[in-house]
Amino acid sequence: MQLFDTHAHLDSEQLQPHLDEILALVDQGSMRINAIGTDPRSSQRCLELAKKHADVFAAVGLHPNYCAKFDESHWQAILEIVDDPVVVAIGETGLDKYWDDCPFDVQLKWFSRHIDLSFEKQKPLVIHTRECESEMIETLESSARGGRIIGIMHSFAGSADAAKRCLDLDMYISFAGMVTFKKSTELREVAKLIPDDRILIETDSPYLSPHPFRSKRPNLPMRVESTAECLAEVRGVTVAEFAAQTFENANRVFGL
Ligand SMILES: [Zn+2]
Repeated sequence: MQLFDTHAHLDSEQLQPHLDEILALVDQGSMRINAIGTDPRSSQRCLELAKKHADVFAAVGLHPNYCAKFDESHWQAILEIVDDPVVVAIGETGLDKYWDDCPFDVQLKWFSRHIDLSFEKQKPLVIHTRECESEMIETLESSARGGRIIGIMHSFAGSADAAKRCLDLDMYISFAGMVTFKKSTELREVAKLIPDDRILIETDSPYLSPHPFRSKRPNLPMRVESTAECLAEVRGVTVAEFAAQTFENANRVFGL
């Protein structure tokens, strides 16, 4: 069984003590990881890991929570690395109303640049949304070209309606550990509705470990298996079937 963690912050300080163990597993062929950048330095670090490990890939971009500090030089640094073949996605980008570090109109401006870059490079967006579901869906629908957005809704925690509107734009929906929590009954119902060819799994490590590791920090990419087990049960398939399906979906969206 091979799993694909479509979203892990491998450059995070918290993961450094575990990095050798994580990369050894990857190099043995038991999983693939998309290492996600949040600023130029972190994107560069993800790129370096992807160059060294055949089953690690990189996403490069500027995270909405940090965008108050970004200027043209940061964007240029992303443009310089985006064409590398191991860069399989644009992100982490998106919109966030939970943290107020960056004015929303500034977030929108950076998000729209990432959307343009995704169409130009034909690489999928990795999209973060927190407490602004309707603004996000409206932005995506008004930015679609040919009725579609190339992208992944990362750590999806939205409504069935939001999921449907993203699917109508031909997007992928990725679930993180939150879907395994006892209280996440509604989110599991949403996960049941996602078509077989549009569902992905991720850890968002080092954040939010899935059940039964919830109290364990940091979260680690191998725990994506717990999310796979939970969703396989919800969707009435075996873990092996679900792992194979999500692995194939991830390879498709990342063009691998
Ligand atoms: Zn993230």
